[in-house]
Amino acid sequence: MGSLSYARTSGTALDFKAADMMRDDLLHARARLAPNDVVVTHVWGPCPRCKDPIDVLQAFHPNGDEPAPDGAAPYPVDVACDCAAPWHGGASDMGGCGATFRLEVPFSDPSLF
Ligand SMILES: [Zn+2]
Ligand SMILES: [Zn+2]
Repeated sequence: MGSLSYARTSGTALDFKAADMMRDDLLHARARLAPNDVVVTHVWGPCPRCKDPIDVLQAFHPNGDEPAPDGAAPYPVDVACDCAAPWHGGASDMGGCGATFRLEVPFSDPSLF
């Protein structure tokens, strides 16, 4: 994958690919409810675009407009590739290949974190 250059990439095709990779147990995602209705999500595994390992931990605070998640339905999360590969040539210090994808993250037992 050393020749893949940085490109801002998102869209349904990438979302589907990420979902497929999760179904195939390549890409992993877990969400849990933290105090004060904060949702913490963890996504790790190969990026659906560049295939480099990513490890993205995010916390979402309730915005007041939506009902608090009950831990039953998956939590939709936008995940940005944060791989450490030096060859994409991205301008951002965050690294990554520029891919952003949406993933339905299932809630799990808190002990798995
Ligand atoms: Zn990537
Ligand atoms: Zn990469």
